Amino acid sequence: MAKLILNHLSKTFHLGGTAAVRDLSLTVREGGFLALLGPSGCGKTTVLRMIAGFEQPTDGSILLGERVLADASEMVPPEHRNMAMVFQSYALWPHMSVAENVGYPLKVRGVSSAKRQAKVLEALSAVRLEAYADRRPADLSGGQRQRVALARCLVTEPDVVLLDEPLANLDRHLRQEMEETFREFHARSGATMIYVTHDQAEAMALATDVAVMSEGRLLQMATPEDLYARPEGRLVGSLVGQGAILTLASPPGAQRQLDWAALKALYEERGMTTAEVLVRPQDVEVSADGLPATVSSALFEGERYALRLTLADGQMLRAFSRSPAKIGDQVSVVIHSGWRL
Ligand code: ADP
Ligand code: MG
Repeated sequence: MAKLILNHLSKTFHLGGTAAVRDLSLTVREGGFLALLGPSGCGKTTVLRMIAGFEQPTDGSILLGERVLADASEMVPPEHRNMAMVFQSYALWPHMSVAENVGYPLKVRGVSSAKRQAKVLEALSAVRLEAYADRRPADLSGGQRQRVALARCLVTEPDVVLLDEPLANLDRHLRQEMEETFREFHARSGATMIYVTHDQAEAMALATDVAVMSEGRLLQMATPEDLYARPEGRLVGSLVGQGAILTLASPPGAQRQLDWAALKALYEERGMTTAEVLVRPQDVEVSADGLPATVSSALFEGERYALRLTLADGQMLRAFSRSPAKIGDQVSVVIHSGWRL
């Protein structure tokens, strides 16, 4: 095993000439868990298919450690990459039992029946499905089928596991349960994992690193915490987490983390040059001595109210409040912190 390196990777499809992936470079450390996050059509699946070996890069290269897996002239075939891909549709054989499905990749490789049985049991216990070995896929729930697909990928002991929106077909409750399974699976297998999703909450909850893509390009790669606290640019700022983007006078210097004194001054100043500042709802305090605002919507979330506030100049803010609020209420807000995008 080794780190996976994508080096100035590009892919242009001849049909229509679409540049699906543009000059994308990133490194996934050995045993890392990377989420590839971005809206539909931004090129996530194409990146995954190039890593798996189903598509050849138009430009750039893919390396596993020192070994070149693919570039514009060379291609290691998928079966020689020791990777496994899990799809949104689980692609299980309907006529085989759970155990037969999981053992199938080993059978193809000519592994003996006794050895196969042991490996299958181990893989099934890793996804907590030991009791279901004799069932058919049709007799399982969606979440269980997804776990069978995972177990089947675990038996081959891949260096890299590629997952393409594996939870998109499941309901919310099951997704949360499966997120737990993926984390356990990652800890247990030690495999390098790349998880494609358009769901930012899923990406943040699961992965140790998140790479945000838009229109074939990598916008930013960081830990979930860093991505949330220090997004690079408006697109990442609006894609990751809740918040509002204010247009203020441009602060002097390179300072990006702004406190209330700076934010208030920049809001009131509004010079010729402006800056976009991301404000998270938990950094906005209502009912304090601050800027006047009007409640434009209030959503009761159980623990708190999620508010949309309109400032005097019409700009919008989001805030949380413990005390009840209703549309039209006049309040005063203090913005404790903002991040210049
Ligand atoms: P995502 O997985 O993020 O939704 P894709 O990687 O599937 O995005 O697609 C990225 C872009 O490449 C899209 O514009 C899509 O239409 C195009 N594309 C993907 N596969 C092909 C193909 N085989 N031929 C032509 N265009 C393709
Ligand atoms: Mg896709």
